[in-house]
Amino acid sequence: MKTQTKQILDRAQTICRDAGVRLTEKRKRVLQVVIQAKEPLSAYQIADAYREEHGESLSVMSIYRMLNFLKENNLVHRLETTNQYLSCSHITCDHQHEVPQFLICDHCQGVSEVGIRKEIFNELNENIKGTGFQMARQQFEFHGTCDHCREQ
Ligand SMILES: [Zn+2]
Ligand SMILES: [Zn+2]
Ligand SMILES: [Zn+2]
Repeated sequence: MKTQTKQILDRAQTICRDAGVRLTEKRKRVLQVVIQAKEPLSAYQIADAYREEHGESLSVMSIYRMLNFLKENNLVHRLETTNQYLSCSHITCDHQHEVPQFLICDHCQGVSEVGIRKEIFNELNENIKGTGFQMARQQFEFHGTCDHCREQ
């Protein structure tokens, strides 16, 4: 395991302990798979990678359950439009987690997570609510070209 991955996992353990929840060995291994992935993965891909990495088969149902736990604790995020998971890029940060938005590159499939302040998000929500429109998704996912791909 890379040192950086280990650092993130150690930090995740602390975050969970502070929140009074348990990052079990299996949950931790699922998180490891997501951290090590270069792009967002579906639960099925995570199940495959888990089997390869840890030599143990888990049902997709249990993968989903563990992903939900990780998601509730802001350790992973789910891209709602594609139903894929990626690890939070702020696990080792000290600042509070903001409302995440995702910038998705259509060329390399890379995703960056950028936070917006809760107040801005709430205001936006209020605006939309005022129209009577019911939002199916509460997350912003923008498609485009990342910095790296633009340079090429
Ligand atoms: Zn995050
Ligand atoms: Zn951060
Ligand atoms: Zn790109």
